[in-house]
Amino acid sequence: STDARAMTRRRRVGVMGGTFDPIHNGHLVAGSEVAHRFGLDEVIFVPTGRPWQKTGGGQLGAGQVSARDVSPAEDRYLMTVIATASNPQFSVSRVDIDREGNTFTVDTLRDLRRLLPDAELYFITGADALESILSWQDFDEMLALARFVGVSRPGYELSATHLAKHLRELPPDTLQMLEIPALAISSTECRARAAAARPVWYLVPDGVVQYIAKRGLYRRWPHPGPSVS
Ligand code: ATP
Ligand code: MG
Repeated sequence: STDARAMTRRRRVGVMGGTFDPIHNGHLVAGSEVAHRFGLDEVIFVPTGRPWQKTGGGQLGAGQVSARDVSPAEDRYLMTVIATASNPQFSVSRVDIDREGNTFTVDTLRDLRRLLPDAELYFITGADALESILSWQDFDEMLALARFVGVSRPGYELSATHLAKHLRELPPDTLQMLEIPALAISSTECRARAAAARPVWYLVPDGVVQYIAKRGLYRRWPHPGPSVS
């Protein structure tokens, strides 16, 4: 019958998960480039929840967390909002930071599927995080919930060969690889720079530079308060 939805193409929504501690221009270029190449209508950035075990390193999927203190979820959320605010295609979701416990990508996708039942979801992940993609729990369910896009990242091989034995079983278009402009930026490097009072200008958006300074994030010394410059 005359279902309007049948005549419209499904909304394509990118999902970019990450710890975003802090969000940097590598994340933004990845979202922008995938949006362009796959004709996405929107990209949702999803900061991970704060790991309940500080030293657990138990987060799976996009949020690669090592044995370190992760910044408060609200700081990571606000930096992500600041970084994406000027792009009408970008938005930020709180689904992971509002959920208790460690973030599992399958939970992110379930929540977004519930919120956007008609959308085609594209989960975006860098070449490093892709390595663990097939060890994620509930992989079959994840494949049913979203397509996956692996993007290149300097220092990591973007290749399906080491995934070959799993890929043979995957339906076409389930996992696609995309070469993007190389930005050798990591949050780890940004934190190290901020800790050593080295510049992070042009590695992260201007507003994020200011936010890091204002909140005294990543300082190794006690935060003296925002009035000290
Ligand atoms: P950290 O150094 O703390 O692990 P990160 O820079 O890897 O931080 P994450 O928040 O861990 O950033 O990454 C979120 C997602 O963005 C992951 O899928 C990761 O592979 C991808 N990503 C991060 N930096 C880049 C980059 N420079 N180019 C392409 N993809 C990236
Ligand atoms: Mg990482």
